[in-house]
Amino acid sequence: MRQFQFNYENNEKLINSIKKIKQWCMASVTSEILFQIYTEQLNYDKVRGICNIIRTEMPEAKYIGCSTNGNIVMGELAESPITIICTVFEYASTKVSVLQYHLEESNVDEVTDSIKKHVKENPWVKSVILNITIRGMSMTRFCENLSSLPKDVAVFGGGAFSENMQESQAFCFSSEGDLSDHSVVIALVGGDEYHVETIYITGWKPLGKEFHVTKTDGFILYEIDDKPAYEIYRKYLNIKNDKNFFLNTLEFPFFYEHNGINILRAPTASNPDGSLVMTADMDENVKARLAYGDPWTILDSVKKDSVKLSKFAPEVIMVFSCAARRAFWGADEISGESLPFQSLAPTSGFYTSGEFLRTGKDVNQHNVTLVVAAQREGEIDADSIHEVDVIENEMSGKVSMINRLATFIQAATEELEEANQRLLVAARTDGLTGLLNRAKIQSIITDETKEIEEDNSLKASLIMMDIDDFKSVNDKYGHKEGDFVLKGLSDMIQETVKESNPDASSGRWGGEEFMVLLPGFDEERSAELAEKLRIKFNEIEFPEAGRQTMSLGVTEIIPNETSDSATMRVDKALYKAKAAGKNRVVRL
Ligand code: GH3
Ligand code: MG
Ligand code: MG
Repeated sequence: MRQFQFNYENNEKLINSIKKIKQWCMASVTSEILFQIYTEQLNYDKVRGICNIIRTEMPEAKYIGCSTNGNIVMGELAESPITIICTVFEYASTKVSVLQYHLEESNVDEVTDSIKKHVKENPWVKSVILNITIRGMSMTRFCENLSSLPKDVAVFGGGAFSENMQESQAFCFSSEGDLSDHSVVIALVGGDEYHVETIYITGWKPLGKEFHVTKTDGFILYEIDDKPAYEIYRKYLNIKNDKNFFLNTLEFPFFYEHNGINILRAPTASNPDGSLVMTADMDENVKARLAYGDPWTILDSVKKDSVKLSKFAPEVIMVFSCAARRAFWGADEISGESLPFQSLAPTSGFYTSGEFLRTGKDVNQHNVTLVVAAQREGEIDADSIHEVDVIENEMSGKVSMINRLATFIQAATEELEEANQRLLVAARTDGLTGLLNRAKIQSIITDETKEIEEDNSLKASLIMMDIDDFKSVNDKYGHKEGDFVLKGLSDMIQETVKESNPDASSGRWGGEEFMVLLPGFDEERSAELAEKLRIKFNEIEFPEAGRQTMSLGVTEIIPNETSDSATMRVDKALYKAKAAGKNRVVRL
């Protein structure tokens, strides 16, 4: 594989460059030629002119391309708005095929079916390189559909964009079709001697507290923790909803797990209702955290991953990097994260509106990510493994202040979350018996009566119990033995009740009084359970107090009554059991 990369200046120079490539090809063995044309400007005529020149000068060559948010040549942000990359494949077994589909929302399945059919019919395919206009089609569905491609086929590429990030117009094109603002362009590359290895790098790290994404619709993020999503940025980062919103928030995109890998999504705008327009579809009902971009961490990731990639001995590297990264670094510094790859192989690509990459079987649309595809023809020979040029400076090997602070926040958050968890348990549990405390069981009963009120077909019952003559246990054997009896009873209740009704809740109502809520149980079944509890308690032989008895009240919750009315009735049933001679169950 051999690659020529150049900035487009004018047609005359382009023709000259192509002539030189032709000469090189004539002097060597070539199998396929693939041009990639990337343009920062939405200049249809100029790009069509370039396509015409390639078609005329090199009819055998194939080309793909798209509009971008900036191009990368020789590992750096290109100076010229239009860049041309010509990859010459040298092995006879290597094949390239280009496809272009016009898109409408409805035919995403047709497009992906056709791609899968092509790949199936051409078992040599190892890479599916994508240039896509991402608007007007469900990218989630597109990605999901491609997950069923044969598992050894790599999928990577980028979404078309434009110089202006607020601009939604973009186009892509190929030797198989004209410039189009609704197209999927694909280059299929493969063959026995063609090899590809892909990685993705974010360098963004999760920060502190975990949020719950409660409402989304496609790429609109409506609510987090049941509140307008914008609130998160206002409250935790003091980011105002003004013209700088996008630039301020892209340093802090959302970070969550999708298809088993970490995905970033940045907001591009905030709506008056507090919902956020995200860079791509976002899952609902996931745990997400804010992530922070830290230059040192990013460069450290690039360093580690480029060293890993050097073992593959790439001949050509394609990068698809998010436009948000370019905005984050600024034009002067952005090349720092792509330049290390240039020391391995000619590195080119563009800044996208979404980076696509297959990881495992899943194809994902990333954001704020750098997708890197290393390619090679032939086997690795030891001489072709290059060392990575790592730019060493005063930052190398040190950990940045922001990184330390993020670690501090992370550790503090975890500590607080654990403490919170312990407090939550303590706040609802009775210390002596480990059952729910009175406030908690009461609130569960209240919730249950509300549910029955909403849906009268539901039912639930209560059992209330009280140890008979417990005062005398304390009096005769001491408070300690009394506690022992309470604990023994509680353990028995817990076990017996859960066994017969896993949805049940058991709580300590007062000193030696206990309450059980049985969702789904009518009075009959509850009375049976109550009888079982009565017998089982009496079977326990306490060390000093011996066998004890208790009295129980049972009642079924009546639809539309309050929880107080139900608990008063079961209390009355219990009172009746006491009055009738104790050690019995009374239903009311
Ligand atoms: P009855 O059969 O009518 O229910 O009589 P009783 O003696 O069980 O009822 P009473 O309500 O008069 O007494 C309850 C006793 O429970 C009084 C109190 O000392 C005891 N008690 C309440 N809480 C605890 C506790 O946490 N530990 C111990 N050991 N005793 C407790
Ligand atoms: Mg009692
Ligand atoms: Mg009592």
